[in-house]
Amino acid sequence: MTTDITFNENWERRWHPLLREWVILAATTSERPWSGETISSGPEENPVFDPDCYLCPGVTRASGKKNPEYQKPFAFTNDFASFSLEAPDVHRHEPFEIVEPAHGICRVICFTPRHNITLAEMSREELLDVVNIWKKEFDELGRNPAVKNVLIFENKGKVIGVSNPHPHGQIYATGYVPKVVQRELDSFIEHKVSHGKGLLEELVEHELKKGTRIICRNEHFVAFIPFFARFVYETYIVPRRHIAQITDLTEEETQAYAEIHHQMIVRFDNLYNMSFPNITMLHNAPTSGEEKNRIFHFHTEFYPPMRSPDKLKYLAGFESGGGNIINPVKPEEAADRLRQASTIHYKYR
Ligand SMILES: [Zn+2]
Repeated sequence: MTTDITFNENWERRWHPLLREWVILAATTSERPWSGETISSGPEENPVFDPDCYLCPGVTRASGKKNPEYQKPFAFTNDFASFSLEAPDVHRHEPFEIVEPAHGICRVICFTPRHNITLAEMSREELLDVVNIWKKEFDELGRNPAVKNVLIFENKGKVIGVSNPHPHGQIYATGYVPKVVQRELDSFIEHKVSHGKGLLEELVEHELKKGTRIICRNEHFVAFIPFFARFVYETYIVPRRHIAQITDLTEEETQAYAEIHHQMIVRFDNLYNMSFPNITMLHNAPTSGEEKNRIFHFHTEFYPPMRSPDKLKYLAGFESGGGNIINPVKPEEAADRLRQASTIHYKYR
C-alpha cells in the first residue's frame, strides 16, 4: 500500500448537482496503479443453453409459462414481480401507517438466447437490437395511464447478487416516480429556471472543456466520469442534444448510443480482464404526461462496485448511516485508466 497522498484536490466535499448532495473525495489510501495482472474470476464454464435456466429459449418457467425459441432480445413480464397492476388499491393515511399501492409492471429482457455470454461480449449490432427493444418497451409501458415512470436497468455480476448468468436486464414501470429520478427532474427544472439553460448540456460542455474526465465520445454522445462521481468508475453517457427520453433518439442517434454504450462496457471488462460487475441505469423523463417532464435530460449512469481488481466498494457505516458517499480515487485518475483500456474485448484478442 502506497501512502502517495496528493494534497491538492483531496479531502474535498464535492457538490452533486443532479442529486443535490455532497460526495466526499478522500483519495488518502490511493492505490498503486494496477500492475496489469489478471485476477482469477473463476473459469466460466457455463453452457450455451441451460435447461435449468428460466431465461433460456424454450424453457418452461416456474409460473408454467414457456419461453419462445427466441433469436433476438426477448421481453416478458416478471412472474415474481416487486410491483403489480393487480396490487390492491389501498390508500391508508393513518398515524405512522401511510400506505399507497405498489402499482407497476416489471419486465425482464433477455439480451440474447445465448446463456453463457455477456452484453459486453455481444457485437455492437446485437447491442443495437437491445437498445431498440428498450425503446419499444419504454414506448409501450409509458403509454399505460397507470405508469408514471419507466426505469430501464441492468444488474450484472454475482457480487451484486445476480444469481443467473444469462445476460438480461430489467424494466420497472411504476405508478409513481422513483426518488432519484424525481430528484434529478427537480434539479433539471431548478437549473433551467435559474440559469436559463439545461443542466446536463452545460455539464457536458464543462467536461469537454476540462477534458481530463472524458473517456470517449462520438458525434452525438459523450462518456465521462463526473467531477462529483460517488463510485470510482461511475460513468455517465449523455447525449449532447437535449433529449428527454430514449424514444426521442433518431435512428442515427440510436446507433451512436449503441456504439458508445458498447464501447464503455468493453472498456469496463478490459480494465481488469474480467467480466466487470456493474449496475447500469437509463434515466429517462417520467411518463406521467406533465409538460415539465420534457426538461429532463436522458442519460445513462453506470455504478460499478469495483474499486480495484480485488476490492469491492461497500457502502459502510458513514455512507449508509450518514448518507454521503466517499470516493477513494480521483475521477481524473479513474477516467485515465478507462481511457487507456482497449476497445476490443479481451476475450477476442
Ligand atoms: Zn439461460
